[in-house]
Amino acid sequence: MAHSPKPAPRPHKRDRTTQIALCAAIFAAALAVTALALHARAPHDSQPTADLIITDAKIWTVAPTLPTAQAVAVLGERIVAVGSASEVAAWRGAQTHVIDAGGKLLLPGFNDAHVHFVSGGTQLDAVQLTDATSASELSRRIGERAKSTPKGEWILGGDWDDTKWTPIALPTKEMIDPVTGDTPVFVQRYDGHMGLANSAALRAAGISAQTPDPPGGLIVRDAHGEPTGALKDAAMDAVFKVIPDMPHDQRVRAVKRALAHAAAVGVTSAQDMTPEFADVSVYGELLEKGELTTRIYAAHVIEDVEDIAKIGVHHAFGGPWLRIGAVKAFADGSLGSRTAYFFDHYSDEPANRGLLSFGMHPISKMRDRMMLADANGIQICTHAIGDAGISTTLDIYSDVEKSHGAADRRWRIEHSQHVAAKDFDRYAVLGVIASVQPYHAIDDGRWAEARIGHDRATRTYAFRTFLNHGVHLAFGTDWDVAPLNPLLGIYAAVTRATLDGKNPGGWIPEQKLTVAEAVEAYTQGSAYAEFQEKEKGSITVGKLADFVLLSDDIFSIAPDKIRDVSVTATWTGGRQTWNAAHPTPGEPNPR
Ligand SMILES: [Zn+2]
Repeated sequence: MAHSPKPAPRPHKRDRTTQIALCAAIFAAALAVTALALHARAPHDSQPTADLIITDAKIWTVAPTLPTAQAVAVLGERIVAVGSASEVAAWRGAQTHVIDAGGKLLLPGFNDAHVHFVSGGTQLDAVQLTDATSASELSRRIGERAKSTPKGEWILGGDWDDTKWTPIALPTKEMIDPVTGDTPVFVQRYDGHMGLANSAALRAAGISAQTPDPPGGLIVRDAHGEPTGALKDAAMDAVFKVIPDMPHDQRVRAVKRALAHAAAVGVTSAQDMTPEFADVSVYGELLEKGELTTRIYAAHVIEDVEDIAKIGVHHAFGGPWLRIGAVKAFADGSLGSRTAYFFDHYSDEPANRGLLSFGMHPISKMRDRMMLADANGIQICTHAIGDAGISTTLDIYSDVEKSHGAADRRWRIEHSQHVAAKDFDRYAVLGVIASVQPYHAIDDGRWAEARIGHDRATRTYAFRTFLNHGVHLAFGTDWDVAPLNPLLGIYAAVTRATLDGKNPGGWIPEQKLTVAEAVEAYTQGSAYAEFQEKEKGSITVGKLADFVLLSDDIFSIAPDKIRDVSVTATWTGGRQTWNAAHPTPGEPNPR
């Protein structure tokens, strides 16, 4: 499965006005934050007092120097005291808002190192196909959506999963044509590596029996050579090109929906992979209005590296709420679509080793782009899933280092899913971060071994092996490929119990992590992956006041109960963005 990138429809044109506006917004925000901090620190009395104290909490700080505490004090956006209730009480003044946590567990806010934020927000309002378990159910839901879709608009989203159907079979345009007529439909598989088009969408994209498969893509065909409507990887691009741009208002709505959901599940920082320029522009717009409630680090698609380089920004450029300066590349496809690129063939498909992505044809083209990114101080995040896809990425990283010399680059390999035994050490030597999504392990774990065999499965989602080799781990979800809820990710990393209930003791159990390790990867580890480990990731004096209060203590309950734990309250920069007692309209308390 898994993963990846919703190859979000790429912007067709560069919008320089947007970029300039973005830079201006970031600078303005940075100035505003500085002014606020100076104001807050100017003592009106001899002793400044806290704006917020959370006390009687069970705090797990993720800071090795002071792992546990009872209370934390916040002034402005930052933490000013952590310690026992009595120590922190010294910061209490007449205006201090004091919250008694009732002994509940308080953690640093979760930092999701890999999301598709606007896709996620859009998907919350789009047709839902993930839990459709048959062709007739898929057809029924799309037909229902078609009735309420204005003429000319597309039906998108979906996130269908054919592995949940009985029998398992790829969907076809014949299943949806009768209920959609002239309304174009392009609904994607939940891993983003395949989509189903109806006849209207195929016509719009100019795909027919005569259309050849593009490099890095496959048009699935029936016995007569007719496209079935299923398009894999680069074959989807022809459709993306004809999908109209999302109107601005709709984009703002999607971002707001995503922000509300992130707050409700305790995600205070999100690293947004391959956003469009227009998405980042909306983040800047909401930041100016004080409505950005999740911190964003945006990694633009590497095809745009020349533009990012021209702006002159380096990695993690911006302010505490919005940063840019990373690029995201694609090395291969996904296991679910059998396009993840392996040294050896798929165990159940001897002619197939998967595919290098379009951007890797030829590999020198990718190397040139990475050289350019690195020469300009831009961080590189590369999607790589199969062992050969990962190895090829490490080869290119190694070439770049040889050419440009040693530096603190924090290169990342997104997903880092199936690793060749020889390559764990190369991650460590090159300082490459494994940016992984533990929920995929319990999802793919249902069927991965049939595809790749037992030996490769032992180095699949190999979180323990990464840590043993001294590799930095960052946790995320790949939302909306997987649910955004971090507690599901922690549950997955700790139990490795596959979603089908067939591995209650854990699939490849030697790769399990402890709760503390999983929490660290989801906070400090993800902060490190965006060069922000000194600003956030632990509950430490001087850091940003991002916290989550949980319904239960995940350190003491049975591991299989972690998935039922919910977020009681969320604070970002000392401001409460979620309170389960008074949920945001439309946001049920998510589990
Ligand atoms: Zn992704």
